[in-house]
Amino acid sequence: MLDITHEEWLRRAKALDLSGLHHIDGADESGGGAVFAAVSPRDGQVLTQVADGGAQEVDAAVAAARRAFDSGPWPRLAPADRGRTLMRIADLLEERRAELALTVSLEMGKPIADAYDIELRAVITTFRWYGQLADKVHDESPHTAPDALALVTREPAGVVGAVVPWNFPLTLAGWKIAPALAAGCTVVLKPSENSPLSALLLGRIATEAGLPPGVLNVVNGDGPVAGRALGLHPGVDVLAFTGSTAVGRRFLHYSADSNLKRVWLELGGKSPNIVLPDAPDLEKAAATAAWGIFFNQGEMCTAPSRLLVHSTVAEQVTEAIVRRAHELRVGDPLDPATEMGAMVGEHHLERVLGHIGTGLAEGARLRAGGDRTAGETGGSFLQPTVFDQVDPGMRLAREEIFGPVLSVLTFDDLDEAVRLANATEYGLAAGLWTSDLSTAHRVSRALKAGTVWVNCYEEGDLTVPFGGMKQSGNGRDKSVHALEKYTELKTTWIQL
Ligand code: NAD
Repeated sequence: MLDITHEEWLRRAKALDLSGLHHIDGADESGGGAVFAAVSPRDGQVLTQVADGGAQEVDAAVAAARRAFDSGPWPRLAPADRGRTLMRIADLLEERRAELALTVSLEMGKPIADAYDIELRAVITTFRWYGQLADKVHDESPHTAPDALALVTREPAGVVGAVVPWNFPLTLAGWKIAPALAAGCTVVLKPSENSPLSALLLGRIATEAGLPPGVLNVVNGDGPVAGRALGLHPGVDVLAFTGSTAVGRRFLHYSADSNLKRVWLELGGKSPNIVLPDAPDLEKAAATAAWGIFFNQGEMCTAPSRLLVHSTVAEQVTEAIVRRAHELRVGDPLDPATEMGAMVGEHHLERVLGHIGTGLAEGARLRAGGDRTAGETGGSFLQPTVFDQVDPGMRLAREEIFGPVLSVLTFDDLDEAVRLANATEYGLAAGLWTSDLSTAHRVSRALKAGTVWVNCYEEGDLTVPFGGMKQSGNGRDKSVHALEKYTELKTTWIQL
């Protein structure tokens, strides 16, 4: 973390030049004149007005991306040249790291330390990694009979629509944009209405780094208007979405109702974290469980929101998590010492409080938190919250809350743990704590989840794919596999 004090971040926040525009065909655009207010959840104050795009702006952006794909240089460049531009984008992101981190923290409430250290590191690494990968992908020439030559080539899939949420606004945008650009596609990004300002900076930086006009366009606006227009647009070939399962389902309808564009979905989760009595270190298991559910205010698709703990160690582990909940420093996202910042906004905070109310009404036992805090700031702050005595049938145990709310459930044997873990419509991630290698392998095979972490949580790097099973989505972000989303396989058969 940079050595910048709270006071200095506050000073920089005041001096920050924030503009809420679209970025279309290589230039900032204000669109048709409609605007919405970007409100900071740290104090409820309006940061700036943001251009509110609709069908017209989406049309302009898709037309620019279409031109750039059909007749522009980008898909026709040598892959190494595309790679160099992606690496320049990474360099510029690095140069402006503090400003970008501050923008993210202001618009969605993430602690500045996490924005700088985690969010910015992730997006910079993503552009650099796919830049380096661009010319290291090979086509295939399968063995055929001697009188034929077969070529299997990977071609860029075309214009990509990317619709992303606000919880990691730059990282999740980067996970779509970087592999799509490396593959030779062009992109229209529709960021969340809760994080429009960092997305505009990303669009500008890409143009500054030398990306030709139209290759990356950013259209700000409401999901049901701008997002829907992009989902239904006949000029979009691939739609890459990250967000809730409910909205993901809509994109499948948009595709069916338009041009059958390919739809890739990274959706919600209700991830189980199984603690067995033979965990190598129960204190570490508890500390990691607490960190996992409270990190990023619990606004994590992979949050380990269901702690499944063996009944013999349940109280010891729960007690350690409750202690941590009480110690956590919740407060101003711009204070480098803050561990949990503001929820993204009042609407979301009310939603999470609604889930807490339901948990209480269902009879779960509240062990920590449960209410808003720091109300005098005007910001949207919630206490780290822990429920135990949660039954698998309760809504608390079934529905994604997307907040710092842990549900503790207990089990008595391994089969029951696996059954409980898989008793969800989601399949994004899972955790397992055990010292037994065979148990680790057997249980991780039995878990229906795109990622299983053993004796850790949220670990990984760009080399490994990320995505969900069941109603957590399809396809994979990150790794070489992400290229599969943005390329089509072509067979050329030559009779010799
Ligand atoms: P959301 O689904 O409400 O919104 C995501 C995006 O879709 C936003 O850009 C929004 O404007 C747009 N949108 C909303 N309604 C739309 C509509 N009717 N038509 C078209 N577009 C629409 O999700 P959110 O609140 O921004 O983010 C939280 C959700 O995202 C959680 O469910 C979380 O689990 C999920 N998420 C998943 C991953 C993953 O990789 N699997 C990562 C982060 C977040």
